[in-house]
Amino acid sequence: APAPPPVRHLFSDPAEVEALRENLLAWYDRCKRDLPWRALAATEPDADRRGYAVWVSEIMLQQTQVATVIDYYNRWMQKWPTLQALAQASLEEVNELWAGLGYYSRGKRLQEAARKVVSELAGRMPRTAEDLQKLLPGVGRYTAGAIASISYGQATGVVDGNVIRVLCRLRCIGADSSSPAVIDHLWDMANVLVDSSRPGDFNQALMELGATVCVPKAPLCGECPVKQHCQAWRRKLFGKPPTVPDVEDCGVGDCPLCPPATEPWDSSLGVTNFPRKAAKKPPRVMRTATCVLQRRGCHGAPEYLIVQRPSSGLLAGLWEFPSLPLAQDLQEEKEREELADHLQACMGQPVAAKGLQFIGEVIHIFSHIHQTYVVYSLHLDGDVTLDPALSPSRWVTEDEFHASAVSTAMKKV
Ligand code: SF4
Repeated sequence: APAPPPVRHLFSDPAEVEALRENLLAWYDRCKRDLPWRALAATEPDADRRGYAVWVSEIMLQQTQVATVIDYYNRWMQKWPTLQALAQASLEEVNELWAGLGYYSRGKRLQEAARKVVSELAGRMPRTAEDLQKLLPGVGRYTAGAIASISYGQATGVVDGNVIRVLCRLRCIGADSSSPAVIDHLWDMANVLVDSSRPGDFNQALMELGATVCVPKAPLCGECPVKQHCQAWRRKLFGKPPTVPDVEDCGVGDCPLCPPATEPWDSSLGVTNFPRKAAKKPPRVMRTATCVLQRRGCHGAPEYLIVQRPSSGLLAGLWEFPSLPLAQDLQEEKEREELADHLQACMGQPVAAKGLQFIGEVIHIFSHIHQTYVVYSLHLDGDVTLDPALSPSRWVTEDEFHASAVSTAMKKV
């Protein structure tokens, strides 16, 4: 069995745990943000609808700011107020509403899971974190814990990015916070800390603290309701970690939770010494030629051709201007020729490279891809239909384009 973690990294004093819960919950009651899914979770008598609302909000909140999510959440719940309504939606409608939130597969998976609840679970949401994770596609350990604690009152902890930061600071955990040893330890800690009488509020309070006070760059330690329990803060004030009863090689030996000996505490960073992450892989660099094909529609207004992306992979099923990934370091002339050949193959009619007008470049950063779109335009006199065997396509006005399931990157284009 692995050695137990050193005491410094634990919450081993029940009185301290109790005090931390009280302070955190009192702060949450005073300062929590009013969010529509919180209001619904607190007042909705139907447990399945509570679970559904929290689930939708949690999936939307992954990697997206609260301020952005509110509008999407409200529109979603208005359109599909229940699991049953979502189960009947088409993927196209889901993609249209999701457009701009990023990570499009999350919306698709949410809808697939809703269909599963309706068709295989008689419309009843699983009630525990274990069952939610086991039975619902796209629901991981975090989302399952959030739904179970907030909607059903299960005393189970959650660990997301905000919680990682807060717990690593509270207990001076400086080893790579994405390593399995640290992640396992943080889950254990979250499960020890969670308040059994108000688990949903406790979990939301811990996340809220990370989102509004214990923020990544300039945490507001002076206003923090749990600063008296925070070892990083004490270390910043007093220059060294508090003494603990029985650990003694922690921080100097090979403790799996302390910062590596090669990167010791840096006093200029203060509490932001924690958490630490292994250096990220640099994003993949991609270059894509894209062409805005334009024609005059029957009412005289311009129309644009959009095509649908494949149903798997990046931006699956979304619509875009006809596009072609390019090899790196191509000359501009060559890029233009390749795009013309691609359009010609799609449209089945000649396209002259010199007829393509270069408009400019648009850079869009996906989480792991640095994408440059090289944008051209082409005005067409007659009608054009793309070979439907290659990909579905349609002509849209500017308004229709914005209402379609197109990515933020294409809107920039
Ligand atoms: Fe975070 Fe500072 Fe509070 Fe510690 S005292 S939990 S570092 S805000």
